[in-house]
Amino acid sequence: MIADIEAGVAFTRNLIGKDRLDNRVMTAMRQVPREKFVPRDLRYAAFRDGALPVGHGQTISQPYIVALMTDMLELTEDSIVLEIGTGTGYQAAILACLASQVYSIERIAALAEAARQRLADMGYDNIEISCGNGYQGWPEKAPFDAIVVTAAAPSIPPALLEQLKPGGRMIIPIGLPARHQELMLVTRDKLGETHTSSLLAVAFVPMVDDY
Ligand code: SAH
Repeated sequence: MIADIEAGVAFTRNLIGKDRLDNRVMTAMRQVPREKFVPRDLRYAAFRDGALPVGHGQTISQPYIVALMTDMLELTEDSIVLEIGTGTGYQAAILACLASQVYSIERIAALAEAARQRLADMGYDNIEISCGNGYQGWPEKAPFDAIVVTAAAPSIPPALLEQLKPGGRMIIPIGLPARHQELMLVTRDKLGETHTSSLLAVAFVPMVDDY
């Protein structure tokens, strides 16, 4: 899996603007046991560099994409991070290795509860999961140093932008389901001005707004 991530990075280096990802990110990718986050009958495929179905019509993201999105956030051990789309909790676990505190929101109650249980059993004590609509962010815990959205939204949700600190970084797939989606890096500079850049084409499940 690690060799496949490195190959993916090398293959996309012109798009992502780097030859290799941060060593700390790669260490986290080595340490977090992905097999514990995939359904039992798919464990044989846990270390393939691809997304896998995890029930409720949702997926666990491709390891290369998880590593890339994490790298782009430039986390430090003091970072407070918000994730939208907990799913299995795998991305949250990777973030928790690199940041001080991770908040993650999942709209499907059964997934939120399963992820909460799984991460607690594994001993993660710096991840808090809430069941709800990620379009609203998590105002009580804001502002965040970094925000990672793991479902595709048609445009950048305004509440998430508001909850990003000046100097903060957000990574989010933008586009409609089954259409072209782009992974976007959104930064707020120290004056609060927003800058966006597109990295590469991706395929995420949709960020649902049915509230
Ligand atoms: N990060 C996950 C994979 C995410 S799949 C992992 O590491 O396993 C995308 C997830 O986003 C799904 O679980 C889906 O239910 C959730 N989602 C979709 N729309 C959402 C919304 N508006 N608010 C919160 N979660 C949402």
